[in-house]
Amino acid sequence: MPDAGNPPHAGYFSDPLAETDDAVWSALLGETARQRDRIELIASENIVSRATLDALGHPIVNKTVEGYPGRRYYGGAEFADRLETLAIDRAKRLFGAGFANVQPHSGSQANLAVFLATLRPGDRVLAMDLAAGGHLSHGSPANLTGKWFDIHHYGVREEDGLLDYDQAEALAKEHRPKLIIAGGSAYPRAIDFARFREIADDVGALLLADMAHFAGLVAGDQHPSPLPHAHVTTATTYKNLRGVRGGLILCNDADLAKRIDSSVFPGVQGSVILNAVAAKAVCLGEALRPEFRDYARRVLENARALAQALMGQGIAVVTGGTDTPLMLIDLRPLGLTGDIAAGILEQAGLTANKNGVPGDPQPPQVTSGLRFGASAGTTRGFGTGEFTAIGDLIADVLLALADHPGDLDAVTGRTRNAIGRLCRRFPIYPDTPAGSPP
Ligand SMILES: *Cc1c(COP(=O)(O)O)cnc(C)c1O
Repeated sequence: MPDAGNPPHAGYFSDPLAETDDAVWSALLGETARQRDRIELIASENIVSRATLDALGHPIVNKTVEGYPGRRYYGGAEFADRLETLAIDRAKRLFGAGFANVQPHSGSQANLAVFLATLRPGDRVLAMDLAAGGHLSHGSPANLTGKWFDIHHYGVREEDGLLDYDQAEALAKEHRPKLIIAGGSAYPRAIDFARFREIADDVGALLLADMAHFAGLVAGDQHPSPLPHAHVTTATTYKNLRGVRGGLILCNDADLAKRIDSSVFPGVQGSVILNAVAAKAVCLGEALRPEFRDYARRVLENARALAQALMGQGIAVVTGGTDTPLMLIDLRPLGLTGDIAAGILEQAGLTANKNGVPGDPQPPQVTSGLRFGASAGTTRGFGTGEFTAIGDLIADVLLALADHPGDLDAVTGRTRNAIGRLCRRFPIYPDTPAGSPP
């Protein structure tokens, strides 16, 4: 008798998760239904293509490599090299960059690698204040960047919510930082990167542009690119760029690129998440196609339609609109807080996040604002008509909450039905099994 060897238990290579693990599978079914039946307004989210999901679920996940294409520590890296080279070349082509690193596991990792490549512990950094729309990885006291570096923050003007370039310049002259960061998570307007470069050059600082939230608009030519101005640019691939969760680092200087590569690996990361790199190649390939330009144009149109609809219903939109996929609304005129408002919108079928507004008197767990983004809804197929309707639905709920709390149940029920109808008209992942509506 031939030796049967020692195979894994029957079905190991063939049984689908649906049959092997009910606890995990049922939670996943619920999540599919949640995404299908609710409107996603969280600005950090999007809906990836089937092709991206295929790459993420591929056995390439088994392969371990360290280092860079052609310079790996482990063997068997032929296809890993091919995939990473594809992702790098596409990132360079898409953004017009001389160098790209596609390995960062997240946007925060990308930023941390830039800190490691350009600074020594204790060095001075100037970045946008978290309270003004900055990001944790730009020197928040809770983040490693805030604990190990000497961070100074510029902000936005309380009266109009716009970035205070004069303050940034004055702070740069006073503190003479080695690194200046431009970009944030809740700043809705186009940033004047040329002005930031002047400020940086004036004090001999490097400029890091973080385009996490609008990289897709840059790729689709709907937003000025920071690349001609910044020494180094970071992005996430999963927000407006519509791909896998992860980060990217771009630059045009060979020396800096070398330092960045060694700061990503072995500086802050180990082996490469190759299925994510494959999926980055997929999303960058998608973004290089002409259709993506259309997508980016529609994201911006839709974001503006949503902001207009909200303002038309008397809701205060910070800066009076947006140049990006996201907007910030100020709930103080309604006497509401972000935590309560986000909770009620969730009950009505709209997922959004609470967010601080400029000069917010509330703590971060409460806040006086909400942040909405148009990237995911646009992927679903919503146009300006749908986004205008969504704005009206949001306003109905918020105005009921503020002025007619007695009507709130009826209004959220009605809104939920309207949202259910809208979602059914724009289905996602039709071939993916889903649970019953949450
Ligand atoms: C989202 C975001 C990041 C990255 O966040 P991760 O959750 O680490 O991927 C970095 N910078 C800005 C400005 C962001 O908005």
